[in-house]
Amino acid sequence: MTLTETGWRCGAREVVRNLAMFFIVTLCGFGASADEPYARSKDYDLQHSKVVLKFDLDQKKVMGDVTHTVSILKPGTDKLSFDSVGLQIQSVSVNKSSAKFETTDSKLNVSLPRAAKAGDKFEVEIKYEGQPKKGLYFILPDKDYPNRPKQVWTQGESEDTRYYLPTYDYPNARLTTETVVTVPGDWLTISNGKLIGVTDAANGQKTWTWKESQPSSTYLFTVVAGELSEVKDSWRNMPVTYYAPKDRGDRLSPNYSRTPAMIELFSTTLGVDYPWEKYSQAMVDDFVAGGMENSSATTNTAGSLRHPMLATEYLENQDGLISHELGHQWFGDLVTCKDWGNIWLNEGFATFMETIWGERHFGKDVADFDRWESSRNWNGNRNLYAKPIVRHDFDDSGEFDGNAYTKGGWVLYMLRQQLGSEQFYAGLKRYLEVNRGKNVVTADLSKAMEEATHTNVDQFFDQWVYGAGAPKYEVSYAYDEAKKQVALTVKQTQKIEGRVGLFRAPVEVEITNGTGPKLYPIVVSKAAETFTFPSESAALMVLFDKGNQVLKTAEFKKEKKELLFQLKNASEAADRADAAVALGKLTKEDDAAAALGDAARNDKSVGVRNVAAQSLGEMGGPAASKELLESLKEAKVPWVRNQIVQSLGGFKDDPAVVAKLESVAKEDSSYRARAAALQALGRLKSPKAYETLTAMVSSESPDGFLRNASLRALGTLGDDKAVPLLAGWAKPGKDLDSRQAAISSLARLQKDNKEITEQIAGYLAEPHAQIRFSSLFALGTRGDASAIPALEALLKRDDLSIEMAPMIKQQIAGLKKPKPKEAAHAAMGEEGDGEEDMGSSPSGDDQKLSHLEQLVQEMNERLKAIEGRLPPAKP
Ligand SMILES: [Zn+2]
Repeated sequence: MTLTETGWRCGAREVVRNLAMFFIVTLCGFGASADEPYARSKDYDLQHSKVVLKFDLDQKKVMGDVTHTVSILKPGTDKLSFDSVGLQIQSVSVNKSSAKFETTDSKLNVSLPRAAKAGDKFEVEIKYEGQPKKGLYFILPDKDYPNRPKQVWTQGESEDTRYYLPTYDYPNARLTTETVVTVPGDWLTISNGKLIGVTDAANGQKTWTWKESQPSSTYLFTVVAGELSEVKDSWRNMPVTYYAPKDRGDRLSPNYSRTPAMIELFSTTLGVDYPWEKYSQAMVDDFVAGGMENSSATTNTAGSLRHPMLATEYLENQDGLISHELGHQWFGDLVTCKDWGNIWLNEGFATFMETIWGERHFGKDVADFDRWESSRNWNGNRNLYAKPIVRHDFDDSGEFDGNAYTKGGWVLYMLRQQLGSEQFYAGLKRYLEVNRGKNVVTADLSKAMEEATHTNVDQFFDQWVYGAGAPKYEVSYAYDEAKKQVALTVKQTQKIEGRVGLFRAPVEVEITNGTGPKLYPIVVSKAAETFTFPSESAALMVLFDKGNQVLKTAEFKKEKKELLFQLKNASEAADRADAAVALGKLTKEDDAAAALGDAARNDKSVGVRNVAAQSLGEMGGPAASKELLESLKEAKVPWVRNQIVQSLGGFKDDPAVVAKLESVAKEDSSYRARAAALQALGRLKSPKAYETLTAMVSSESPDGFLRNASLRALGTLGDDKAVPLLAGWAKPGKDLDSRQAAISSLARLQKDNKEITEQIAGYLAEPHAQIRFSSLFALGTRGDASAIPALEALLKRDDLSIEMAPMIKQQIAGLKKPKPKEAAHAAMGEEGDGEEDMGSSPSGDDQKLSHLEQLVQEMNERLKAIEGRLPPAKP
């Protein structure tokens, strides 16, 4: 994931990472049945589809009429098979004559009049209707939310287009499209390609026609329609448009206006201009992923439309999401993975393109720090380690995993570092030009790289892409006074098994002594090696892999003296961040606290400032709190104030800290810092916390930001007096984010009060996914077995997204057999997946819980904004 400022860093790092993974898994449906791993053999080539759609909003029904132009590939083909799930097929004609057809659970098979020859062309028209369970979604007002703007939108990836359109639904086909969609007269529509025209239709409706003249795959087909606001922008005279639900049009520019600058940067960096006729981004409510890169017409979650007053409080705001989806317009849309086993060619590149924008717009320090965090994130998820990036044996976790995204992005970064920018981009240009409009496998990339650069990259691809894992180094050094040299011993300690081998990696070692720093490039390839470097005097600092250029973990024990030097003097943000983390583990060392305080105030990297503040929080003690309070005085930007305040939340029984938190909660330049202070007060259970939090629930702030923080903090505080207030905010009709906060807090109070359990269980049947999810997890946390029948009833509903079922089962299992307290704690503190533990174990440990609570809030915020790195929902 691209992390903006604070990342998932927090006290217990493993917990944080695992929680992050847990949420991604649960909210985004990793845990669903596997997609077809290999590309299909094809009887025909689908060349063009004219898709005519109408909607019945009352019945949430789609009425479709699609005409496919196909060209036969396999001689003797007498039947055309289309993917089609749950649709009622009314008629099929082939070349305008009525045709025989049959349907199965997943296919529509159409008989041809005769066995065809290769190259024969047919026009197949299919009339159908259906109430899609996925693929196409209706977002409509209801009695509790009567003012919701109406929206209808599609989401194809990975294999969901077939739920609303009978078609060839696998990436290894490319077709042009014409979309004709009839909607109420005051709606707007968006589809792939150019808008051809809007004409009047019956009953005051309008018919919109869009045409895409460049072929792309069916999972990239899109229709968005609804009561929307539009903002028009442009890039080199090409239309660039942004859409929001009509009540939030004022949020488009504050969040999206950097898009044309990104298009320009990517076009010039890649040497291949943006390839489509327009670029639109439509933000819709209740979107099932963070974002989706449909060709020329991205759809993103409306959660990315931050309130303008909050948008400025996030350093990179939505740029990770926007640049990721834009990057896909080249990597994914123009050049498309042939099968899901090569999905990293889409997702790794899109993740890498985030880095390109980050480096240019926010600068090297910010991009370097994001990479430092993403490396810790990837390394912290042990489910990824043993699996290669390219694989065709998907398990339950599916193919849209941290290997396709985070590691894929890292691999491209490392390749650029190793080849040099000029060579690397020459290779990419060749890859894009040769494969433009085609489907690709990984070999197409390595071949283009080698052809353009004359550098053989086979070994690189073998270890990083087809092989699994990353090196785990153990590093130490000694100075030999007599020989005047530093001997650096490097061991690779990863277990050599399965697809994990020894790694060969170029690494830079920097040795600093009294005369200054010197850089030595080495290549590490053996299980254990010792390298020697000349040094006139003992080293003040030795850096292994300066600047963190290789995806790895490195255990390199250093003395405090060297860490202090490194925090102050290392030139790269990643090395200073490493030192800050290590120093945070030295409790009761005042000089370490002072150095971290200095870094928290003065480091030129915002990321390092935040790591230093966080380390002070972990360190604890009066020296650390003094440094944090001092740092808060000087911190100007919200993304640092927020972290400092969060860190202050760990200091129990420190009146100065509590007083400061009280005052920040009531008044501060940053809403994020105020929200963090509210959380911290709940966690510290300060005497006035209840009063402050309840007062803040009725305060006004952008999007109820402070209210929602207070509602969450009341759960952490654990004072049962808050039950009526929380019960009120949990009710239908209230803002969905407030409800979510109230539900999760309510779950933690009066645990033997069955009425609360009943109230929460009553929300399981609501249509709002957000509320269903929070109620589901709230019941798991609550640990009241009386919720089991409601959960079992939920399991039987037919409107359940498939990815939800395993989560429900997990909560039920947890409620039936609560874990012993100690085991639950151990699981939470341990490195590892921890997914099950997070979901279901009721834990009595306040500190851990409040910690999690805070993370949940961060995750919620983040999830709304993170893109497609969050994989789309799966069948
Ligand atoms: Zn993506």
